[in-house]
Formats: sequence, C-alpha cells, structure tokens
Amino acid sequence: MGTFLNGRDLKRKRSPLKSWDTIRNPSPVHERQLIVVVPIFSPPFHIDQRNLTRLSMTDLSDALKKRTRKILTILDRTYPDVECALHHRNAYELTAATILSAQCTDERVNMVTPALFEKYPTPASLAAAPQEDVEAIIQSTGFFRAKAKNLIGMARGVMELYGGEIPDSLEELVVLPGVGRKTANVVLGVIFGKATGVVVDTHVRRISNLLGLTTSQNPEIIERDLMRLLPRKSWICFSHQLIHHGRKICIARRPRCLECPLLKYCPRTGLPPLT
Ligand code: SF4
Repeated sequence: MGTFLNGRDLKRKRSPLKSWDTIRNPSPVHERQLIVVVPIFSPPFHIDQRNLTRLSMTDLSDALKKRTRKILTILDRTYPDVECALHHRNAYELTAATILSAQCTDERVNMVTPALFEKYPTPASLAAAPQEDVEAIIQSTGFFRAKAKNLIGMARGVMELYGGEIPDSLEELVVLPGVGRKTANVVLGVIFGKATGVVVDTHVRRISNLLGLTTSQNPEIIERDLMRLLPRKSWICFSHQLIHHGRKICIARRPRCLECPLLKYCPRTGLPPLT
C-alpha cells in the first residue's frame, strides 16, 4: 500500500482520484463510476393499458413531464415522512451500511450492523480491524470477503485522507474503496442534505421502468434519466419513496396495482393487462 495523503494535501491536488487510484484496490462489488449520457427515451413509448395513441417526441416529453409531476404529488401525499431504511446514527455508520447493502436487502443489513458498530464504532477502530473478524460479522450479507475488504479500506481511507471524518462531497467520497455514486448519493442526501443525484437501487430501477420514467436497466442511465425528469428538490426523497412503495405495494413478484395510488398514471410497462 502506498503513501496516504491528508485531506488538505488531497484538496490541493488537481486530481485526487488519480492519487487515490495508486493505493486503492477495487473489489468485485465496487460500484462503477461511469456515467453514460443517452436520450431519456427510445421511441416509440407505449402506455399499454390506456387508449393513448403514439405521440410525437415533443408531445411525449410534455405529457411525460406532466405525468411525472402527478406521480411526485401522489408519492409526497402517500409517503410524506419517508426516511432512509438503513439504520444508522452518523455518516460513518450510513457509509458502512450502504456498502453492505450491495446485493443485499436493507433488512439483512440492519440485522448485522448493530454487532459491527458495537465492535467497531468509529472509522479508526474499523481501520485497525482484522479482516477475518469483520467477515465473520457481515457474512450473512453476501460477498462478505469483498465487503469486509471494502469496509476496512473505506475506514483507512477516511482516517488517512480526511482525518477520520466522512467527507461531504461526491468527489471526495467516490475515491474511497467500496464507495461509488450510489453510496455517495445516499450519504450526501441523508446526512448532509445535498442532492447530488438520484439513488438507484433495485426498487428504484424496477419501479422507474414500470412507471415509464426510464427504459434502461443500467443504474447510471436510470439516474441520468431521473435527474433530467425530476426537480432537484425531489432527488433525495424520490428514492426513499419508491423503496417504500416497492415494499408495500409495488412488490416485485406481485405488484398490487389495484390498490396502488399511482395506477392512473402508471403504464405498468411490461406487466400483463389488469383483469
Ligand atoms: S400501478 Fe402497479 S406497476 Fe404501477 S407503480 Fe403501482 S403497483 Fe407498481
């Protein structure tokens, strides 16, 4: 492992990512940071359960914006006080919990983090943890070797680069092992109230497609589509709302469309017609 820079030195550098790249060792579950810019929609776009004819792209865009506003209004009304589903008490705990949530349910993460944070309550303690100990605690979250490596690497990076404090900018967060755009957006939105992007997890990806807000399965493209469609003030809560909606009503294998307050504005893309 190479020489670490302190936070002040890092900020003076033109390219902190390049500096950190010399010492980081990405794992298989590290999130990709590539952003691909593509058009929001690939015409034609079908709203298959209603008698809407094919629209021009201009009309479609206006119709889509209007429909999106209706969806946001209903989500705000239905889930007015949503919070992050990952249990945490500070930025360090949320960063670690979000790293653990890759390919794992929030419920499962919430089951292991109490023991993890009891034994390693600070970045300093986690930075000095033996990897096998961390692996044993987080084993049930899957990919536990890579995640343990990322957790310890994240904690060491926070200690060496930022003096033990989780930073509050996207650029500083994404150079930490295991921290990609998704984790950074979660931490910045929930802890620091900064809307830097839209968090795309499995619920957001699935329901955004059902709602016809994107046609992509790629999280980076979905985030880009949603950032274009949604007002910035909705970026943080929209993800929390869709996550709650995906658990309560728009359940993956059996969406309860007839009980859904969004039904009137949802094309239910890819689902069979309601009977
Ligand atoms: S109408 Fe059905 S598919 Fe659309 S958001 Fe509601 S539950 Fe999901």
